[in-house]
Amino acid sequence: MSICPKNKSSKARRDSRRANWKMADATLVKCSKCGELMVPHRVCKNCGAYNKREIIPQED
Ligand SMILES: [Zn+2]
Repeated sequence: MSICPKNKSSKARRDSRRANWKMADATLVKCSKCGELMVPHRVCKNCGAYNKREIIPQED
């Protein structure tokens, strides 16, 4: 048997509960190679490096 709410939550109650949901600040770290802000555990968008090594060759 699953959870079964005994009473219906009104729209106002449901919406006021959700009014406190807020987006968390995005975590950004500095690239170990170029120092640009980047999303952690992703290849750097600026220089294409990950873990101090260039993974994606840059054209310029
Ligand atoms: Zn970089």
